[in-house]
Amino acid sequence: MSPPSLIDIHPNLSDAAPVALSYELFPPRSPKAAETLWTTIRELESTEPDYVSVTYGASGSNRDTAVELINRLLLETTLRPLAHLTCVGNTPQELAGIIGELLDTGVRGILALRGDLPKDGGEPAAGSLRYAQDLIELIRRVEQRRSALLCAGKIAVGVAAYPTRHPESPSEEHDVEVLLAKQRSGADFAITQVFFRTEEYADLLTRARRAGVTIPIIPGVMPLTSLRRLKRLGELAGVEPAPELMERLAAADSDIDRLHIGVDATVDLANAALDAGAPGIHLYTFNEHQSALEVLDKLALPRRSRTAGRRDAVARPQLAS
Ligand code: FAD
Repeated sequence: MSPPSLIDIHPNLSDAAPVALSYELFPPRSPKAAETLWTTIRELESTEPDYVSVTYGASGSNRDTAVELINRLLLETTLRPLAHLTCVGNTPQELAGIIGELLDTGVRGILALRGDLPKDGGEPAAGSLRYAQDLIELIRRVEQRRSALLCAGKIAVGVAAYPTRHPESPSEEHDVEVLLAKQRSGADFAITQVFFRTEEYADLLTRARRAGVTIPIIPGVMPLTSLRRLKRLGELAGVEPAPELMERLAAADSDIDRLHIGVDATVDLANAALDAGAPGIHLYTFNEHQSALEVLDKLALPRRSRTAGRRDAVARPQLAS
């Protein structure tokens, strides 16, 4: 038997790793939405997240606003952006151009996604990449070509993972095989689709680890405060929200009650995910900070201390349902 390595027995290295915190934002669709988004960004910035992810429309439908938002985040805030990128409908040449553009602005993290297929059921454009796995390989190629430029930070590549079966997938086992393939192609971490039951996330972790997936699988947690949004997301992602929660939200007397019910349910879900071994929490903010901050306060994640006076810095807007 070999003696324990110096690294293994070092007391500071056997401590639990810090819990990661991140938020998802989407590029604004109007000047008014941009204004609200920037209030949200400033509020979220003061909680010192590890990164904020910026979504990208399938086929690059919002490419310019996404790149503009990422640029501003890099230039005007202390936040580190994780740029989502989808490959469906785009050729490798087009995508290599976008990856280069993102790297030139200073982006060092990309969430490599396929994107949703065209709604009309038509085939994606000929010559376009087929799977997220292809995009990961393309990103790694671009990275290799620019390796001398990336000495102060290589690219972290993230991917999507699914606690409940992806709508097009034959089984949850297939989803895990795909996740393993994405890891082999160079993915560094995964963020999950929304889920409403902790067992779904815990089962994914167990199945993925058993299959050989070793990368962090970060639970994507949505504040469960808006009935309308829960219904819509359930339809879009094929994930069924818990009926008991839907009933409680529907029966709430006021927006404040609904917020409390939703925040408590979200905190329970996130805590249970952390107990199951989650390395962090990724909050889907829907560009609103109020519920995200309420969730964060109640979660009391073991993180470094935050800037004092955050909550007083910007007046909170009125509750919306
Ligand atoms: P893939 O991993 O390519 O999987 C797509 C389908 O193909 C699955 O059914 C999978 O089982 C199958 N498959 C994959 N590889 C193989 C293979 N080698 N052989 C056989 N079958 C295979 N969408 C956006 O448009 N913009 C966004 O910004 C965005 N952000 C997201 C963020 C997160 C955290 C998540 C979870 C999803 C996000 N999505 C976004 C949605 C995502 O684009 C869809 O879920 C899409 O349908 C699948 O994307 P994927 O990257 O998982 O694709």
